[in-house]
Amino acid sequence: MRTAIEGPLANTQTGAVAAQALRACVHCGMCNAVCPTYQLAGDELEGPRGRIYLMKQVLEGAKPTRLTLDHLDSCLSCRSCETTCLLGLSITSCWMWVVKRSPGPSPAPWGSGWCGRAYVG
Ligand code: SF4
Ligand code: SF4
Repeated sequence: MRTAIEGPLANTQTGAVAAQALRACVHCGMCNAVCPTYQLAGDELEGPRGRIYLMKQVLEGAKPTRLTLDHLDSCLSCRSCETTCLLGLSITSCWMWVVKRSPGPSPAPWGSGWCGRAYVG
């Protein structure tokens, strides 16, 4: 996947790590198979492969929408995707960094979305 990092992440260590992961990902989807939020939602954007796409858009300069940040922020940071990825890509820290540093709207408080409600009960 071709990636040109723009905006505040350009020329940063995190930007370089994220760009490397985005370029290396082969979109095999093995990470989706072990992702609890993807299993619950059945939604590509609630799994690591979809979050990679969202992160790519943001890193390339697109202003993240509230929905984009919510999809990234609903990641549980369990890192199952990273331990399953055959390439050993360390990807979750990249999009959590994006969520924290994004100039866009704040994500909804954890637990207020469908995923949080499903886990909280
Ligand atoms: S398992 Fe790794 S290479 Fe495959 S889609 Fe997920 S992050 Fe990309
Ligand atoms: S770290 Fe996030 S994206 Fe990866 S498997 Fe866990 S919930 Fe899914």
